[in-house]
Order: sequence, then structure tokens, then C-alpha cells
Amino acid sequence: MNLEFDDKSNLKDNNTARIKVVDKRIINGKTDVNQLVPFKYKWAWEKYLATCANHWMPQEINMQRDIELWKNPKGLTEDERLIVTRNLGFFVTADSLAANNIVLGTYRQITAPECRQFLLRQAFEEAIHTHAYQYIVESLGLNESEVFNAYHEIPSIKAKDEFLIPFINVLTDPGFKTGTLESDKLLLKSLIVFACIMEGLFFYVGFVQILALGRQNKMTGAAEQYQYILRDESMHCNFGIDLINTIKLENPNLWTEEFKNELAELFKNGVELEYSYAEDTMPRGVLGLNATMFKEYLRFICNRRMQQIGLNELFQGATNPFPWMSEMIDLKKEKNFFETRVTEYQSGGALAWD
Ligand code: FE
Repeated sequence: MNLEFDDKSNLKDNNTARIKVVDKRIINGKTDVNQLVPFKYKWAWEKYLATCANHWMPQEINMQRDIELWKNPKGLTEDERLIVTRNLGFFVTADSLAANNIVLGTYRQITAPECRQFLLRQAFEEAIHTHAYQYIVESLGLNESEVFNAYHEIPSIKAKDEFLIPFINVLTDPGFKTGTLESDKLLLKSLIVFACIMEGLFFYVGFVQILALGRQNKMTGAAEQYQYILRDESMHCNFGIDLINTIKLENPNLWTEEFKNELAELFKNGVELEYSYAEDTMPRGVLGLNATMFKEYLRFICNRRMQQIGLNELFQGATNPFPWMSEMIDLKKEKNFFETRVTEYQSGGALAWD
């Protein structure tokens, strides 16, 4: 009888056991996903707090000067106009793909509540970005159906999205579930494509182009929107890299030589697709930029992303032809690029201007 009682008692204890930090896992965890604390993944919680402190909304940015410049027939060259319309053509749908990937795919596979909390915030930021692009399209009075259909109609944009969509579809398939070696690898591969190639590489030609316009005092409202977006996206990319590296640490069996080679191929392919997009958006040199500079820049970023997740870099010795982009990411250091200068960021969504 005693033994039976002990057995029952033990069973009961197991069922009602409180969460232990050591039991938490990023994927395939068995602990209650509704209990945020005790914290295990403090880096995720800290990034959640940091992104909340960076809150902004598109309509806080004045677009009047952009509207005047755009409507003035002599305001911009044809090449500059092409950059703006192709650029928006990619981004108006890209952040929606990102949001769907999180909400319909990644979120349900992640069993650490700290990481889910960040993903909830990230999903809203992707919505803000889609809002920002829509707001620019509307402000400038662009042809909406042309811009929103660019990802079907412009080959260099379509090619980037066709590269990404299979990795998004894997996760958004309602039948997809982690828990086997194969499915865990599929998830990890999709997370790497999403954070390192989509957010970490495919966004960067577009960011440089619009920020370069802003540095020349053109399309300063749009450039300011992009500056905020770049700040958010560099946080998304950093979170994704922490997530990937923690999954690797918790599941070392996923990181095989074959898997690493497969990833290297994907990075190589990503650089080529983004370079074609650079050529297509800048058929001639414009704004002191040309497609060749982007080739070097993309190789430089690709190396960085690969190193960040523990892969060997593909392009030895690649350097950064746009050192000012690194300063853009740390906005506090940013003083002189735009007429309306952001001097301080933070707290409760309030921005300080001079
Ligand atoms: Fe993002």
C-alpha cells in the first residue's frame, strides 16, 4: 500500500512540477509555454525590451518635402525614380512575407516563451514596416497595383521571392512539426534563410539605395522611414542569429558537414540573386553608387552573416565600400545625414528632434 501511495504521490508531483530553468528548450521543449519566468533566454527578453523602446509609427514622419520633390518634373533623375519604385516594389510585399513567416510558421515551433515574446513584437514591427512602405506609396501617389505586383512582374524581385517562398512554405504548412532530425533541420534551415539571407542580406541593397538618396538631401522622409526600419531589422537579424546559435547549442546533432555545405550554397545563391537585383535597379551608376560596389558589399555582409552562425566565410578579404552604413545602424551616433536630425531615441515612443 505504501509503495502504491508513493508511486501515486511521485506521479502527482511530476504532473504539477514547477518549471525548472534547466528544462526549457528553444525547440521541442516540454515546459509550459505560458510561463515566461523563470527566465532562461535573457538575451531574448532583453531584445524584446530594446525593440519596445524603439517604437515608432510611419505617420510621425513628415513626407511633404518628398512629395514636392517627386511631383517636380526636374526634382529627380529617371534613374533615381527607378530606384525608388523598384525598391518599394520589393519591400511592399517583403515585410508581409516576413510577418506571415513568423505568425503562421515559426511561432508555433518555438517552445521558449522569452523567444515567443520577441516574435510577437517582431510580427508587429513587420506590420509597421508594411505600413511605412504603403504610406510612402500613397504619399507619392505611385501606381499601387504596379508597385504591389512588382514581386510577380519584375524578374529580379520575383527571383528573390521565389528563392524565399519554399522556406516559408515549409513552416506555414499546418502539418509541419519539429521533433525528428529531418524536421528540426528543416526548421533551422528556414530560420537561417529568414534571418541571415532575407533580413540580413536581401534588405541591404534596398536600404543603402534609399539612405544614399537621403544623404544627398533627396527623399528625406522616405530615408528617415528606412532608417527606422533598418534599426528594427538589424535587431530582428541579431535575434535570429541568437536563436539559431542557441538551437545549434541545444541540438548539436543538426550541425553536420553536409548541412553546412548546403547552407553555404544557399548563401552563394542569395548573394547572386541580390546582385542581380542591384544591377536591375541601377542599370547605370547613380548617387555615387554602382552595381559593382554592391557586389563587394554583398560579399562583405554575406561573410559577416556566415561567421555569426559559425560557418566559414565564402569571400575571403571582402571589404565594406559603404562604411557609413554601419553608422546608420547605430542611430545614436547619427547626426548629420538628414535635415530633420534625430538626436535621441527612446522611451515610450517619444522622439527628440532639433
Ligand atoms: Fe524583420
